[in-house]
Amino acid sequence: MQSALNPTRLAGKLVVVSNRGSYVLSEHNELITWKRAVSGLVSAVEPILNSAHGTWVAWCGRLSNNTKKGVKIAVPPGAPRYTLQEVLLDEEEYNDYYHGFSNSCLWPLAHQMIDKCDFQRKYWWAYRKVNHQFARAAMEAAGEDSILWVHDYHLTLVPQLIRRRFPGAKIAFYWHIPFPPPDVFSVLPWSRQVLHGLLGNDLIAFHTRTYLENFIACAKKYFSLKVNPEHGLIWLGNRRITVRALPVGVNWQRFEQLAGDPEVRARAQQIRQAIGAEHLFLGVDRLDYTKGIAERIKAFGTFLEKCPQYQGKATLLQIAVPSRNGVEAYDRLKEEVERLVGEINGRYDRGYGAVPVRYLHHSLNEKELVAHYLAADVLLVTALRDGLNLVAKEFVAARTDGRGVLLLSQFAGAAEELKSAVLANPYDIVQMARRMKYALEMPPEEKQERLRTLQQIVKNKDSRWWWQAHLKLISLPHGWLTPEKSIAAN
Ligand code: UDP
Repeated sequence: MQSALNPTRLAGKLVVVSNRGSYVLSEHNELITWKRAVSGLVSAVEPILNSAHGTWVAWCGRLSNNTKKGVKIAVPPGAPRYTLQEVLLDEEEYNDYYHGFSNSCLWPLAHQMIDKCDFQRKYWWAYRKVNHQFARAAMEAAGEDSILWVHDYHLTLVPQLIRRRFPGAKIAFYWHIPFPPPDVFSVLPWSRQVLHGLLGNDLIAFHTRTYLENFIACAKKYFSLKVNPEHGLIWLGNRRITVRALPVGVNWQRFEQLAGDPEVRARAQQIRQAIGAEHLFLGVDRLDYTKGIAERIKAFGTFLEKCPQYQGKATLLQIAVPSRNGVEAYDRLKEEVERLVGEINGRYDRGYGAVPVRYLHHSLNEKELVAHYLAADVLLVTALRDGLNLVAKEFVAARTDGRGVLLLSQFAGAAEELKSAVLANPYDIVQMARRMKYALEMPPEEKQERLRTLQQIVKNKDSRWWWQAHLKLISLPHGWLTPEKSIAAN
């Protein structure tokens, strides 16, 4: 392995900054207890921190209405590898920053769902204030030669706030959701400020080239930039910013291992028997309006209507993980999905044979998840818009049995890589129904060939590839982030 790719090179220098971290803390009688937090971000980022022994600055689930500072703990407890620096937030500010600006402005905007946006000025003020808090905590945790790695749309102002105090700081950013085109982004009343915050970085990475190109087009609209798209470089005055498309990968080995576990395989069979359908479609999503769950259920109804031979034989099992409860748009979606499940079951359940739609409103642990991936004939990832969709990649990694078809939305970031999936437009209900039929009926050799091609891609660009690609860029010495090819433009 090249030394540039060894995380120990960063020994103690890496400071990760994100809204949530690897542990959720709670306090009872002044005693703080912690629980592991499970998320795609944790799986992707933690291996680097484990090796580099740096600091993770994050909000850890505790709210405080006074001026108490967050705690600093060595984690994992018992065998510490890095430091977790908690950012404590005021409850009202947290609501306006997180539910308000982050999830009622930036989230729907990035997913091009402008009708879901709620641009309230108090959200923006809270967002600014909380970003200042994160920037302060990050600067306290960082030393002179630290590398700061900031994550996601919750913290877009942090890079420029740090840059203002420390012009020579090394700052990298990962944007985990889609980046919309300029016409959409400019709807945000504070679009210039958000872009200005992001332009404080030395490196900005996205899942796809489209997001990267959208970002550059947006930034060019508001700032006088020099851009070298071929080398992924932007100049703002004398400052050079590197931009890259580095899609997050899955832990291939872990999924391969789980898929081979006899207990998991037995559970997959048990699920299949319990469902009792000859053909099983699976959906696994957070209950979010971007995931296209309602459209998928409608398409499944159309599939049963147009192909009556599958009535009583095909089931759609939809796992809907509770998300952002109490937010109006999410509560409305839950009602709509439950109504549609009832409607389709009312119409197509004959009282014998397979139940058309099975709907579970809870989350699964890793083993259960893989057992469900293995039990399915077809995974339906039909998001209306999705930054990437890790579930699609996990399904591909888990199907070591060489079976299973992935039906993937053309608007999921993963579709830019996983072109051998059966692609569909989630807004076209009839087309989706036809693709469901095709996914079941395509020749076994085609199923295998498509899966093999997908597996090569997911295996080559796994989670290790992702963090090594970042490490390669962020651990370069000063005058860092040279392009892959030599820079002629200057
Ligand atoms: N996940 C899980 N349990 C569940 C459903 C999902 O642990 O019941 C995990 C899944 O393994 C994946 C993540 O949640 O890693 C979802 O990531 P994805 O990119 O698909 O969607 P997001 O929720 O981030 O929009």
